Amino acid sequence: MKDFRFRRLERHRTGGMRGRMELSYPVPRSPSGKIYQYSPNADAVPRLFLIGDAPADRAIAPEHRQRIRREPGAGETVCPYSGHVAPDDEFVHFADIEAIKKQVEWEAAADIEDHLAAMAKDFNRRQPRNSFISIKMDFKPSRRPRPLTIREDLLRDLECDVCRRAYAVYAIALFCPDCGAPNLALHFRREVALVAEQIALANGLDASRAELAYRLMGNAHEDVLTAFETALRTVYRHLVRVRLPVRAEALCAKKEIGNAFQNIDRAREKFGKLGIDPFSILTDDDLGLLRVNIQKRHVIGHNLGVADEHYAELTQSEQPGETVTLIGEETRRFAQLCLQIVTNLEPQLLVDRQAAAASGATTPDAGSARGEHAC
Ligand SMILES: [Zn+2]
Repeated sequence: MKDFRFRRLERHRTGGMRGRMELSYPVPRSPSGKIYQYSPNADAVPRLFLIGDAPADRAIAPEHRQRIRREPGAGETVCPYSGHVAPDDEFVHFADIEAIKKQVEWEAAADIEDHLAAMAKDFNRRQPRNSFISIKMDFKPSRRPRPLTIREDLLRDLECDVCRRAYAVYAIALFCPDCGAPNLALHFRREVALVAEQIALANGLDASRAELAYRLMGNAHEDVLTAFETALRTVYRHLVRVRLPVRAEALCAKKEIGNAFQNIDRAREKFGKLGIDPFSILTDDDLGLLRVNIQKRHVIGHNLGVADEHYAELTQSEQPGETVTLIGEETRRFAQLCLQIVTNLEPQLLVDRQAAAASGATTPDAGSARGEHAC
């Protein structure tokens, strides 16, 4: 009988002694080949994101140098939701540690069972034939199935436009987890592309399906404001935490924010606390179009598209009780205006910009960052 060995475990051995092996196991991957990551920053909500591969030959373009927070590659990871930077190890997902522990346990048990089965076979083979007493060793392995680990992809799947790292988050994030560049505009461009696809779907329907086309168009229109509101709220919360940490809890309270970012004047007032006016880049005409479309969204979302008095007064087009018109081109323009604002807001997420503004945080209303619109 040969010595006992953990044959399965030894295949994963990367160092150590036979009695105390160092093992290395691959981390489970999602169907698209990404691995789970868990932000060590407890303030990041949510904390799960996925990170994938990047092309081997990638390089940061000179014009993007000032956007990155770190040289992309192994070593550190950036939380895409909060910008928190920490060693890669701190982002390992607890579920992956558990999955690998289970894998090691299963393989160790299977190695022991193989050994016991071989021992029994060896013992039986060595029993003398035709003896008066017959002894047989019977070993029944447990035959537990190999633990199965399933990792799912998240819906929002992107590739950083600066370092080309693939990653996935829940709906929206602010930074690339690899190079740390602000990726807010990248997210919003995806929203605009989705809206354009919905408009194309609505336009492709024939006249007999006009009601469905109107509903699809309404959803596309509504999605623009939802995405815009989410982007503004996410940036605002982040900047308040970084620049006004003492007031962050009060300013970011749910009842304090409510649906303020669905309203130009209230959003302006919120960002004013940070010395930022997100709407300053728009012409009066564009601002008017934004106002009308925000109001239109309320009518579509809450009133099945039927104009109310406030809407009729604002637009001077439909009468109260009439269905508001929805034209794909106008929705596209609405989305583009929102993208313009979001793109203009993105540089506020650059580290040096945040640090400079945070150092003046004792006088938050002094407008330290006002007028900085590097788009
Ligand atoms: Zn990147």
